[in-house]
Amino acid sequence: MTYHKIRNGKLVPAGRFQMMVDTFYVRNEPTIIRVLDATTRFFLKARARPVLWLLSRLIGIVLPTGEVVTTERALAFIDAISLLDRTEIAVGPCMCQKALGKRNGTYMKDIVILYGAESHKMASPEYTDLGPDEAKRLLGELHHEGLIPTFYCCLRSEGWMYAICSCESKICFPVRAHQAAGAVLFPGPDVVVLNSDRCTRCGTCVDRCHFAANTLTNGSAGVDLAKCYGCGLCVSTCAGQARTMIPRPGYSQRYYPIGLAANPTAWLPARPSAVGSDRVN
Ligand code: SF4
Ligand code: SF4
Repeated sequence: MTYHKIRNGKLVPAGRFQMMVDTFYVRNEPTIIRVLDATTRFFLKARARPVLWLLSRLIGIVLPTGEVVTTERALAFIDAISLLDRTEIAVGPCMCQKALGKRNGTYMKDIVILYGAESHKMASPEYTDLGPDEAKRLLGELHHEGLIPTFYCCLRSEGWMYAICSCESKICFPVRAHQAAGAVLFPGPDVVVLNSDRCTRCGTCVDRCHFAANTLTNGSAGVDLAKCYGCGLCVSTCAGQARTMIPRPGYSQRYYPIGLAANPTAWLPARPSAVGSDRVN
């Protein structure tokens, strides 16, 4: 059996240690989320935001942090890894909903990828294989629901990238933790631009954004680029087609593997020799 992770932009077999750590994490994830959620609520109630600020930076060294991307970029990534000799994608329940309560909308939406697909299937029977086309269809539905495509990694390393979560700001703990303390989510490779001349002042963009980047003041739409994380959710529902995504100025790659998604054949392991063994390091 072969697992892959991304190291220095390339897909390579995942190590045994990595699989063990991630399987342990998956088995305990609902409990971890509940404990962190209760801790966050406690310190918020105690008005101790500096403590939360410190905790978020310390815990975030180990636990998952995410980079927000557009749905188009998530789809391009699925297309890229669909070229592997065995595509590593699985789906299971949203762990935040499982731990903290269901929302209206899709529940089976935790799309796990690469070594994350294998470790989640090993840890829980709730995770099942998902084909590339099914994954893309699901990502489209989740975009329609207004959820933020986010590539999650542990240890702040693209080598530990394991999931494309579709998050929102009512239930999902990482989004709420980020709003409370920061350092959990990072802006992605794109940012929105607004053409005010085309704006119909419908106000949809204000409701659509989970980061409060959009405003409608005195009938005039605005966007605070410093608050835009680059999810693209407000673009697809803009009545006046006044919004587009452009590359974020000054962006430096964090988790999303831009090179792999843009030119997958240059980055994927050669088949069958490099991925053909059942060896797990
Ligand atoms: S302004 Fe638009 S693209 Fe930027 S974070 Fe908000 S919804 Fe996403
Ligand atoms: S969604 Fe588009 S048209 Fe509507 S207020 Fe926002 S920018 Fe203007």
